[in-house]
Amino acid sequence: MKRYALRIAGESVDPSGGTWFDTQNPFTGQAWAQIPRADARDVDRAVQAAHRAFTEGAWAEMSASQRGLLLHRLADLVERDASRLAATEVRDNGKLLAEMSAQLAYIPQWYRYYGGLADKVQGTTLPLDKKGYFAFTRKEPLGVVAAITPWNSPLMLASWKIAPALAAGCTVVVKPSEFTSASTLEFAELFDEAGFPPGVINVVTGFGREVGSPLVEHPLVRKISFTGSDTTGRMINEQAARHFKHTAMELGGKSPNIVFADADLEQAAFGAISGIFAATGQTCIAGSRLLVQDSIYDDFVERLLAVARTARMGDPMDPATQVGPVTTPPQFEKVLDYIDVAKREGATLLLGGERGSGAACGQGWFVQPTIFGDVRNDMRIAQEEVFGPVLSVLRFKDEAEALSIANDVRFGLAAAVWTRDIGRALRMSERLQAGTVWVNTYRAVSYLAPFGGYKDSGLGRENGIDAIQEYLQVKSVWINSGAVSGNPFVIR
Ligand code: NAD
Repeated sequence: MKRYALRIAGESVDPSGGTWFDTQNPFTGQAWAQIPRADARDVDRAVQAAHRAFTEGAWAEMSASQRGLLLHRLADLVERDASRLAATEVRDNGKLLAEMSAQLAYIPQWYRYYGGLADKVQGTTLPLDKKGYFAFTRKEPLGVVAAITPWNSPLMLASWKIAPALAAGCTVVVKPSEFTSASTLEFAELFDEAGFPPGVINVVTGFGREVGSPLVEHPLVRKISFTGSDTTGRMINEQAARHFKHTAMELGGKSPNIVFADADLEQAAFGAISGIFAATGQTCIAGSRLLVQDSIYDDFVERLLAVARTARMGDPMDPATQVGPVTTPPQFEKVLDYIDVAKREGATLLLGGERGSGAACGQGWFVQPTIFGDVRNDMRIAQEEVFGPVLSVLRFKDEAEALSIANDVRFGLAAAVWTRDIGRALRMSERLQAGTVWVNTYRAVSYLAPFGGYKDSGLGRENGIDAIQEYLQVKSVWINSGAVSGNPFVIR
């Protein structure tokens, strides 16, 4: 079995405790590799390495333009190794090869975009109200960043943090999820090949309490950029607040996908299905609440079922597969539990509702694509994040009711509206409480478009031109041009 090592200061190193844990292939249910079980000692080694790289040596002295060039070189290496990294992710995570190939083809853009942005960060001169002084601002990198990522899209979500952080001049310690660490460990090796000085990127693997928590607590870490559940995010945010650390929180969602009677219903049905069943529903932006206007409810549900019934479950490596396994055993149990909850709450099971079985599913952790109708917004299945292939369909009468149902949830990550009425599209996009609103599409993301949550879906924004500011702090510099007296008893 393959045995991975930690990446600290540009080297592959064993964990201090000398222990590893198995990582499993969600399609076969079998262990396929061993991941280092790091602890606080490894966290300290990694953070010290990142701190050294930040304060002294080549990285600290490098110009922003040179940092940008390194990011471009990295993008080329990701492109070169895309199929190898995609295969690792499919094996470890159960994501479809088709999805991973598309992701890996896109990830280099994050490094090119922020590589180009690195030398466009500027301070300003200040039009001071005091004579005899000249003052300006500098935008300075925060320091060591802890990037903590979830299991559903490890390389993509790590890149959303690493690219702007490095462009800003920070150094990074990445802590991937214990369920899907392999791709991040392989990915980190490319930074050395690209020519990043040792310590600029480090990866520590293991469990939340043993690795994540000491990383958050480490005094030399200045920012925690976290993507994961709101439960963990809340804990980390409290911990970070005690030390006045900067945080960015990309958390969960329960996103409404709203279909009006005037929409292109065929496209809306495709959008609803891809919104919930892509990546087996294991995405923060899953359109898990489908709101359908009363007058088309029955017709639309029929369309939906017709498309959903054609979904092929199977080996994620097989290009013909459309729905892969759930990534982890606890998540598999959680999804099945929620299906029971929905049944008990009185939602009508329209499709699926069982674990996936049969030859195509192997020994994998499959859940059938599941659709519940007649869901009320006060049911748990309409309010809580399932993070699996389970869709709740709700009815609404008019725009006002659609808005009230859509916003009546503690999350606010994304929302979509399907309509041919441009006025309605504008009204809805203004009033929906979500960090991203799509009109007549679903699941579109880009390095150019700010992404983040309203309400319990988080704090801060990733992607887009401003995301680099999340890794910078402003310093004001005052210069006495000689005209100002130093006499402490002369008050000006
Ligand atoms: P999780 O919160 O269980 O774990 C996320 C990471 O935090 C893992 O690396 C984990 O080891 C680490 N962790 C756990 N306890 C910790 C602690 N005490 N201190 C520090 N680190 C700790 O989340 P998950 O189950 O891996 O991911 C699924 C969740 O992520 C879902 O809620 C999903 O919506 C969310 N998510 C959000 C976005 C977004 O951009 N908003 C994107 C993807 C996933």
